[in-house]
Amino acid sequence: MPGAGDIPANVAFVGIAPGRFGGDRTGVPFLGDRSGTILRAMIAGAGIDRVFITNVVRCNPRDAGGRNRDPDRSEIANCRSHLRAELRLVRPHVVACLGRMAWRELGGDPASFDPPHAGLHRVAGLTIFPMYHPAYIVRGAYPAADWARDFARLRRLTARRRDGDSQA
Ligand code: URA
Repeated sequence: MPGAGDIPANVAFVGIAPGRFGGDRTGVPFLGDRSGTILRAMIAGAGIDRVFITNVVRCNPRDAGGRNRDPDRSEIANCRSHLRAELRLVRPHVVACLGRMAWRELGGDPASFDPPHAGLHRVAGLTIFPMYHPAYIVRGAYPAADWARDFARLRRLTARRRDGDSQA
């Protein structure tokens, strides 16, 4: 499944893979499951507009029991050109990497994954920003209030980049 949202976008959010109860069911990344609901609420709450939402891989990887699993290296490699093409089309000011997998895929591990203290990183033509994946917040592993602060910071940094671009 391709990503969906505004083109061009201020922020492109990149998750892992369509969720079994979310994108894989609704056809839209992060729509219809708890991760998607909390992600979209945070985006709206922070006042971030013009967003595009996509994933590192296009299909829903499942284990033998039918549960979501992380994509493997070959699945990620198969989808790499699709993600890159999407981001070229969408031309986001900032790419928010939701979780370590997207961070590693787009940044090649440019710095340690430390969302609470992170700034913007410029890597291979993209400006990337690390954030915890919404499933992490749904599980209670990171407080929603702290995640909301990270979204507010993303909004400020994106506005600064956008204003910088328009003055260039
Ligand atoms: N839904 C998505 O689209 N991506 C994820 O990473 C998780 C749920």
